Amino acid sequence: MKIYIAYTGGTIGMVPSDNGLVPDAAFAEQLSTKLGQHSEIEHEFVIESYDTLIDSSNATPKDWVTIARDIESKWQKYNAFVVLHGTDTMAYTSAALSFMFVNSDKPIIVTGSQVPMFKARTDAMSNVFGAISACEQLIAMKRQGVFLFFADRLIEGDRAHKSHTSDWQAFSSVNAPVCGELGIDWRWQERLQIALPMTVNIPDMEQDAVTILPVFPGVQAEHWQGLLNDQVKGAVLLSYGAGNAPDKNPALLELLKAASDRGVVIVNVSQCGSGSVAEGAYAAGSALTNAGVVSGKDSTYEAAFVRLHVLIGLGMDSREIKGIFNR
Ligand code: ASP
Repeated sequence: MKIYIAYTGGTIGMVPSDNGLVPDAAFAEQLSTKLGQHSEIEHEFVIESYDTLIDSSNATPKDWVTIARDIESKWQKYNAFVVLHGTDTMAYTSAALSFMFVNSDKPIIVTGSQVPMFKARTDAMSNVFGAISACEQLIAMKRQGVFLFFADRLIEGDRAHKSHTSDWQAFSSVNAPVCGELGIDWRWQERLQIALPMTVNIPDMEQDAVTILPVFPGVQAEHWQGLLNDQVKGAVLLSYGAGNAPDKNPALLELLKAASDRGVVIVNVSQCGSGSVAEGAYAAGSALTNAGVVSGKDSTYEAAFVRLHVLIGLGMDSREIKGIFNR
């Protein structure tokens, strides 16, 4: 099997600097040496380090496009793809890749680590070896998709959420079971296997096209005014509970309605972290629907944010995008 490994930056390949950890271009070479030490792994690895290595907190939608185009350009040559990435925005990137490589028929797995590879107590190699093992299994099972692998868990790319700053288990699978868990052997979540046609759509994305609107006690229209500027075409509204926001503040609702009327798609996602938006359960939620806000259902806010970027990048208008969210 031929596996392409892209190092985009992130803790896994970082080294100390005067200002704290920074990504290191020498990491690709060191990883190659480590992989070469295990003769029982017979795969052929090509490891590439990106020209500009980043702490993933600097990532923008353009970086998702760069990674996707890189994978696309190498599609025919490899059987599987592993993206090494910082954990801070890994869930956005794994969601972005899953929306750009829909029903991927070759494994694309995003991973990284909590502690750099050069440290003695590091999770770097267990995550890399785990991701490689997941690639083998996914190919053997003919299981399609883009995934995030971390601390022995394989999570659907658009279901991941960074939920812990310092545990090895930094990611949770939101509103969906973990697809596979790796102990000595894999334990897989049973699921119906129907081969679906793969589609690849990698649009250009404007980094200012989508915003996030936080709901908090005392939120005023002024807090959101700047966020809903003229560049914005989509917004994720981080609502309370089952999709609620204050309905006793007309200026706030008018602002949402005006944005929605001029074509901004506003998607309602709960800030609870799990569970779904239940439109109309409360009057405070119905007010949002009346202002033109669509339900993000049980999506993570990362996935809703990325999905808006992808659909806007594909040139869809607000009616089409709302239609997709409503389906
Ligand atoms: N700040 C780092 C990054 O996201 C954190 C990590 O990789 O774990 O690149």
